[in-house]
Amino acid sequence: MITLAAVTRSYGQGADALRDVSLDIDKGEFVCLAGPSGAGKSTLLRLLLREDVATSGQVLVNGTDLATLRRDERQAYRRTVGFVFQDFKLLPARTVFENVATVARVMGMPRSQQWRRASMLLQQVGLQHRMEAFPLQLSGGEQQRVAIARALMNAPSILLADEPTGNLDRALSLEVMDIFRDINASGTTVVMATHDQDLIAYVRRRVVQLQHGQLVGDRRPS
Ligand code: ADP
Ligand code: ADP
Repeated sequence: MITLAAVTRSYGQGADALRDVSLDIDKGEFVCLAGPSGAGKSTLLRLLLREDVATSGQVLVNGTDLATLRRDERQAYRRTVGFVFQDFKLLPARTVFENVATVARVMGMPRSQQWRRASMLLQQVGLQHRMEAFPLQLSGGEQQRVAIARALMNAPSILLADEPTGNLDRALSLEVMDIFRDINASGTTVVMATHDQDLIAYVRRRVVQLQHGQLVGDRRPS
């Protein structure tokens, strides 16, 4: 489903953010991208989201070389991918429902259907009763669950997450991991960047290790 073929991303001066990384991820996998800060995890995710392009090598998703996408195709592609950030990135002046429904609204989904789907997803993350709340009335863990529901609104085939638990305490982090495992169990491919070894141990899935932009390990649980 996802193939990186000898991908390098250079930013001019200094060491490459990614260097000659080759990697295959199958549909339905749950991959933890591990490595310390600066290892290249965010760079790899940005390539998969097509916010950035490789300096050399190819990034293929379902057979499409992401570098070849035109602007309109890029937007369409991004809508097939869900993305969860460390800092949630919710709109503070919008309700939970509006935050979750935004993209669906822009795409012209009828409001009744937006409501049904948002309710279903918020129920999945345990927040159905908070649809009319505003983000800042929620705890960090709740805000991240709203962001996860938002990422799932378009039924993405791939969920990308960059340090999704970076601003959460231990208990909430594990709750978010349980939600990710459920999402993965329902067929969505999950690629999550984290430097948190405890979290990786808890998840017990494939671990792709980056260091100084290079792939230095790839292990699957026995
Ligand atoms: P990680 O997510 O593992 O912390 P990053 O992918 O953010 O690592 O960064 C990898 C390396 O690339 C770092 O050395 C970082 O400073 C560099 N880098 C990332 N983005 C940029 C950028 N836009 N301009 C210059 N250097 C960058
Ligand atoms: P982290 O490695 O902690 O996940 P970030 O993803 O916030 O860090 O950013 C890592 C580096 O990449 C920083 O140097 C930042 O300026 C750069 N960067 C982050 N997002 C983008 C982006 N969308 N486009 C270009 N550069 C970015």
